[in-house]
Amino acid sequence: MNIFQIPLLRDNYGYLIVCPKTNSAAIVDPSEAEPVLARVAREKTTLQTILNTHHHRDHTGGNEGLLARQKLEVCGHKSDQGRIFGLTRGVDDGDEVAVGELRGKVLFIPGHTTGHVAYLFGNNLFCGDTLFTAGCGRIFEGTPEQMHTSLNKLMALPDDTKVYCGHEYTENNLRFAMTIEPNNNKLVSRFERVQGLRARGQPTVPATLVEEKLTNPFLRWDSEEIQTNLKAGAPDLKSDPVAIFARMRKLKDAF
Ligand code: ZN
Ligand code: FE
Repeated sequence: MNIFQIPLLRDNYGYLIVCPKTNSAAIVDPSEAEPVLARVAREKTTLQTILNTHHHRDHTGGNEGLLARQKLEVCGHKSDQGRIFGLTRGVDDGDEVAVGELRGKVLFIPGHTTGHVAYLFGNNLFCGDTLFTAGCGRIFEGTPEQMHTSLNKLMALPDDTKVYCGHEYTENNLRFAMTIEPNNNKLVSRFERVQGLRARGQPTVPATLVEEKLTNPFLRWDSEEIQTNLKAGAPDLKSDPVAIFARMRKLKDAF
């Protein structure tokens, strides 16, 4: 399969997934229509499907413009009927989506919103605003418990899974991570590498899941260093994973 990463709006990414055999394509999270149409034309492929991870405008804003040009299947979580423009197929956990001969699996991962899904094609994970490289999405509609469960579900995927998330937020996420786990050597070296990439205007997405497990604080609620640092600012904080996760998320919201 071919994946083309399309920078959209200020810091969003859309992903054009192309089946090389049939030359048909799907677009994950079209924030806007024009750059997607331009890329579809450049790759000489046929767009057939929109895969929305969640209803937020910066992930669905291009639906209307794309649908004005052609008929498309539009997938999103079934509970987002009425919140995702043009939705034709409400999907749920375990459902299969097709792009030509490619097959993807739907993972229901609520927390950022109540109807958030990811699409998994082989080892390529399109996870919207749930898991970010070196971070995770804000909890707008769900609970910390839900978000924690969703992140755990993604963590159970194989280490070589590639994380294609919705935004280029890595550098700022790492800056936050450095405040609570500064002695994590893998984190320090990732931060240096990412700063270099950003200084040259290059993307830091995708990353591998194993790199996330080693450096993303929102997957590291069992890190002793993180727990110690969080408890220094909140002595009553319990050690259970959800409490640690919730406290981290709260600090990041104010970062
Ligand atoms: Zn969002
Ligand atoms: Fe977003």
